[in-house]
Amino acid sequence: MTYWFVKSGKPKNISFNYSEALHQQTQADLSALLLELETWLQNYQQHQIDFPHRADCQPKCPYHQFLLDKATIQSDRQELIKAIADIEEISI
Ligand SMILES: [Zn+2]
Repeated sequence: MTYWFVKSGKPKNISFNYSEALHQQTQADLSALLLELETWLQNYQQHQIDFPHRADCQPKCPYHQFLLDKATIQSDRQELIKAIADIEEISI
C-alpha cells in the first residue's frame, strides 16, 4: 500500500506492507473494541457503571498508581478476612 503526500513542492510517498489478512485482523480488532465500547457506554448510561480500567494499564496512565494501590489494599483486606476466618473459635 502506498500513501502519497502532496505538499507545496515535490510529492512524497510512503509504502508499507498491508495484506488482506492484516486488513481482516484490523477489522476484527476494531469490531471487538467497538463492541466493548458500546457495552460500556450502555452500562454507563443505563446503570451509571463507570467505564472499566484496562488490565494492561501502562505506568504513564494517570490512574495507574492509584489503581495499583487500590488493588493492593483490596488484596490486603481479603488476606486479613481470610486470616481472621482461619482463627479457631474459643468456646466460652
Ligand atoms: Zn490506566
